[in-house]
Amino acid sequence: MNVCLVGAGFSGAVIGRELAEAGHKVTILDARPHIAGNCHTRRDDETDVMVHVYGPHIFHTDDQEVWDYVNRFTTFKPYVNRVKTTSKGQVFSLPVNLHTINQFFGKTMRPDEARAFIEEQADTSIEDPQTFEEQALRFVGREFYEAFFKGYTQKQWGCHPSELPASILKRLPVRFDYNDNYFFHRFQGMPEHGYTRLVEAILDHPSISVRLNTRFHRDQLGEYDHVFYSGPLDGFFDYELGRLGYRTLEFEKFTYNGDYQGCAVMNYGEASVPYTRITEHKHFSPWEEHEASVCYREYSRECGPDDVPYYPIRLVNEKALLVRYVEQAEQLENVTFVGRLGTYKYLDMDVTIREALDAARGFLDRQARGDQIPAFFAQV
Ligand code: FAD
Ligand code: UDP
Repeated sequence: MNVCLVGAGFSGAVIGRELAEAGHKVTILDARPHIAGNCHTRRDDETDVMVHVYGPHIFHTDDQEVWDYVNRFTTFKPYVNRVKTTSKGQVFSLPVNLHTINQFFGKTMRPDEARAFIEEQADTSIEDPQTFEEQALRFVGREFYEAFFKGYTQKQWGCHPSELPASILKRLPVRFDYNDNYFFHRFQGMPEHGYTRLVEAILDHPSISVRLNTRFHRDQLGEYDHVFYSGPLDGFFDYELGRLGYRTLEFEKFTYNGDYQGCAVMNYGEASVPYTRITEHKHFSPWEEHEASVCYREYSRECGPDDVPYYPIRLVNEKALLVRYVEQAEQLENVTFVGRLGTYKYLDMDVTIREALDAARGFLDRQARGDQIPAFFAQV
């Protein structure tokens, strides 16, 4: 079969590789001048530091097969993400852990004492938290909420935390020990030569051809036996029903001669600081040595028609519009929607790869049986 993959990010690359290995002819198109989508990394011209061009990316997973898959194509170096936050003129450790609690309240509590103390701070009248704000008040109490989460979240999402679902905060743990690893997955690391090199290796197969600077339009569906589309779902339909809401990011780059902040990611919890965080890229490659440093100040804002979409918003209005686009997508026959933009979901890289592997296998099974290929393999 002659299959087209729209998008050369992890979704397109992984599905493309699986289909190529199964004997299909694969064409991968990307509108951008580079591969690896939003995970794209490149060496900075000025400092030679490996830069995460579209924001910091740390690989973490519990999925053994996905971990083995990425390690097949590149070497991963050990890397543990330890995030700090600046608030009220001090630096604290994230995610909230025993050090954060003791430092913030000027105490020397043991784990069980801290647990009881935080429970006293918490608003236990909230039985089933629905919003981000309720979740924060219920589990960390007002003081932490206001110092670390309220301002940051307002900047990140452009609305009050009471308008956001609790699920956004549920991504972050609260710990009653000194473990300051931002993630709790079994496997965590950084590709030694960056994500672009990893995706390049996945795409390195004689049956795969990649065309950059090439935008796909649905008029081209007939040119292929099947299309996997990892671009924006609403974009596929030329935004006929309106635009699905996204946040976009802006990065203000600056260089520094030395070590600017001593860690890879420094968050800014207060609304009075206009950016959400500063990323110092050389700390993502602690095995390399660089005198000079390159940093990005990160600003979040509403995504306009010409911006890069980053975070799907998925509030009530967006979900209603999503349902209408999904209905349209399900009418189509030779196209499957995949990935972060094609399914309009916040997906970490490991989940993106898992869904891509499942979509490719589902496709191959159905094709072998002669069954119809669905528009979505993953739940949208
Ligand atoms: P993308 O990488 O977005 O690729 C889609 C590609 O399709 C793009 O290159 C685009 O140019 C192309 N395209 C779109 N429309 C068309 C068209 N019509 N024609 C041709 N090409 C088109 N995940 C983690 O696991 N750890 C992290 O630390 C992490 N940090 C993140 C930080 C930020 C700021 C963001 C926004 C995301 C982060 N992620 C992280 C998630 C990660 O970026 C995604 O999992 C991953 O990029 C999804 O890959 P994808 O292939 O689905 O989409
Ligand atoms: N968050 C916050 N303060 C922080 C870090 C995170 O308020 O210092 C909130 C913010 O709303 C964010 C959410 O918690 O969207 C999830 O955090 P995570 O670090 O997972 O964000 P992401 O990786 O999506 O940028």
